[in-house]
Amino acid sequence: MISDGSFRLDGKLALVTGASRGIGYFLAKDLAARGAHVIAVARTVGGLEELDDEIKAGGGTATLVPLDLTDMPAIDRLGGSIHERWGRLDILIANAGILGTISPIGHVEAKVFDKLMNINVTSVWRLIRSTDPLLRLSEAGRAVLLSSGVAHSARAYWGPYAASKAAVEVMGRSWAEEARQTKLRINSVNPGATRTAMRAQAVPGEDPDTLPTAAEVAAKIALILDPRIDATGKLYDVRAGKLLGYNDPS
Ligand code: NDP
Repeated sequence: MISDGSFRLDGKLALVTGASRGIGYFLAKDLAARGAHVIAVARTVGGLEELDDEIKAGGGTATLVPLDLTDMPAIDRLGGSIHERWGRLDILIANAGILGTISPIGHVEAKVFDKLMNINVTSVWRLIRSTDPLLRLSEAGRAVLLSSGVAHSARAYWGPYAASKAAVEVMGRSWAEEARQTKLRINSVNPGATRTAMRAQAVPGEDPDTLPTAAEVAAKIALILDPRIDATGKLYDVRAGKLLGYNDPS
């Protein structure tokens, strides 16, 4: 097992993107329940407010940041605001993402491809750029980048989404190498098929009751934030409950 889950995050500051629903919502709630102050980012104010109510009901605290991650200067400003108010960041969860369309690669519309790459890749890079100095100021900075199994399985009709997640993983690995001599630790996560709006869009015919809930998956993702875990540049496979290394193609 990766962690027995018995750790606390009191006094830590965690930024979670895509916190208005799905995996990000429950991850934000889990981190707040462990004592972290959560900075919750998404566009849907209603979802963020619901999260805030739940966090407060559990005795936790959050700061809501309604933000469209296609607004790159706003991501820069967010980093600046965190620096001014807290002077550091302990945890970054780059979770927000979109699916685009599942279709033959030659049928994907240019505007759909561009939007997908903008949110799934460019905004993650921009977040990394904006928060790297703040994470390095933490006593034990942790970054978690949400990927997908299709980054490795090259599944037909999933090309652009798969490419976006492969990009995120390799960006995370490069960042991890740069930060290896520091206290900052960076890993990607493959959550596995999860009962969320994105999965319903991807596989509409599937019975959602056959899938783990976002709350269950988020609880497992939170385990890699156990401060005792020192791994970096790895892929956490939630289903397998393991941190995996990377091999060159053979
Ligand atoms: P959901 O579609 O349920 O939630 C996506 C989240 O991203 C929402 O909170 C949404 O908030 C936010 N988001 C999307 N676009 C933007 C934007 N432009 N600006 C700000 N926030 C945005 O997705 P999941 O919970 O299913 O997925 C979470 C992560 O896990 C994603 O990176 C996904 O690729 C990955 N994943 C999911 C799997 C699954 O089976 N569900 C499997 C493998 C990977 P809002 O709309 O309010 O802005």
